[in-house]
Amino acid sequence: MVKGKVALVTGAGSGIGKAAAIALAKEGYAIGALGRTASELDELVAEVKSQGGTAKALIADVADPYEMAHAIDQLTETFSRLDVVVANAGINGVWAPIEDLTPEEWDNTITVNLRGTYLTLNKSVPHLKAAGGGSIIIVSSINGTRTFTSPGATAYSATKAGQLAMAQQLALELGQYKIRVNAICPGAIETKIDDNTDIRSSRETAVPVEWPEGDIPITGGKAGLSEDVADLVVFLAGDKSRHITGTPVWIDGGQGLLR
Ligand code: NAD
Repeated sequence: MVKGKVALVTGAGSGIGKAAAIALAKEGYAIGALGRTASELDELVAEVKSQGGTAKALIADVADPYEMAHAIDQLTETFSRLDVVVANAGINGVWAPIEDLTPEEWDNTITVNLRGTYLTLNKSVPHLKAAGGGSIIIVSSINGTRTFTSPGATAYSATKAGQLAMAQQLALELGQYKIRVNAICPGAIETKIDDNTDIRSSRETAVPVEWPEGDIPITGGKAGLSEDVADLVVFLAGDKSRHITGTPVWIDGGQGLLR
């Protein structure tokens, strides 16, 4: 069990972020649960508290610098420090043929996923430095890092590749401050992300790759669970991963190797 440490989780209202917040709280971290939807965050905070943990809801759009500054201020005023940052909030956005994708659709995916990750770290790294070190975990994807066959996912893949590049670049920049930076790259995980997905003309962009026994070898085709990813978040947050930094960890049941 961890004592007196604080973790920020963005996109904590559902899916991987919610599972990560619950798992980190069980491990002993006080949780800053950041997201856009107050009702989801209130539910999560109540769940953490009912299990004996500590959490505070922080309402902010990760792409808005003022809201993020305010949210991180609230977090550090409440808990006095910050040790772990899970930059998880993200959307699939629009998956469409490149000539069909509008500039607005492109910008929306880049804004939430990449600018959101930048702002999350821009506002929180000073607090990790002040704490004398910490762990940053960026939730990327197999898309853009190991898999390039999801139909029309160009903007999404670009953001996920960009997030891994950020993790590697910052691992070096922040190593001297004892801050580790790693990227988690999940394959298909059962969450609400499909609500943020708009796929158009996928037959035009689909690449004919097919695996006869289901495309996630270790589960016979079934998607992973948010809890599977949350266990990895806890490992990368804590001291057992003390020598790991600048590393992508694929968590996909082998899915990314097939496509
Ligand atoms: P999800 O939709 O359940 O969760 C995403 C959360 O982020 C939601 O709570 C949403 O409200 C929040 N969010 C979205 N935009 C936001 C913004 N601008 N500001 C603040 N919060 C915002 O989906 P998930 O699958 O849990 O996704 C989490 C991360 O995992 C994403 O970065 C996604 O790209 C990545 N991922 C998911 C899968 C998968 O199969 N589910 C696979 C690979 C990577």
